[in-house]
Amino acid sequence: MTHGDAAATARPPSLNDARKPAAAGAAAPVGSLAGNASAHLAFIALGANLADPLAQVRAAGKALAGLPASRLLRLSSLYRTVPVGIRGQADFVNAVAALETALSPPRLLDALFAIERRFGRRREYHHAPRTLDLDLLLYDEIVVDSQRLSVPHPRMHLRAFVLAPLLEIAPQVLIPGRGTAAAWLPAVSMQIIEKLGE
Ligand code: AMP
Repeated sequence: MTHGDAAATARPPSLNDARKPAAAGAAAPVGSLAGNASAHLAFIALGANLADPLAQVRAAGKALAGLPASRLLRLSSLYRTVPVGIRGQADFVNAVAALETALSPPRLLDALFAIERRFGRRREYHHAPRTLDLDLLLYDEIVVDSQRLSVPHPRMHLRAFVLAPLLEIAPQVLIPGRGTAAAWLPAVSMQIIEKLGE
């Protein structure tokens, strides 16, 4: 499926209404939304390994909260992680955010790129160290497979730095085509990841 420009392709969320403001602390996990056809539930991975990564990821959480037509529902704990598939780079700080949004997947991706640019991200080469990396992991339960955007993110199920924070805020979440995110966790147990304190 190609994404088109509208989120009209998105299947409406079907589980219980789990909207909780980000400030609500460690309340109920995010499941999905209900009752508002223009509200979609997106999960976004945040990562940084340059220029005070902790501060970058915290600030990126605030930037996500400021996106138009969107509301930050939850930001996971921050995790320190050893880079996967790259040698000689600093550790990353990672987190996952749950966002309620009326932006379509391509518009949301544009907005994420704009935040990355604001944080000084340069795309020098594949796997270059980054001040901020934002990936769209999931958008409702839709599948997008275009040149520019793949949702679910094609490698999310292979990354502990995605699965651990994602499962912290949405333990029941499904990865379309792959089953529950929780089922993939044992497969990444060798990846080194440490949850950081508040
Ligand atoms: P990266 O450098 O790892 O952030 O990859 C960014 C590239 O991946 C861009 O060219 C995006 O268009 C593409 N891309 C494909 N699917 C996604 C996604 N779900 N989230 C973020 N970027 C994506």
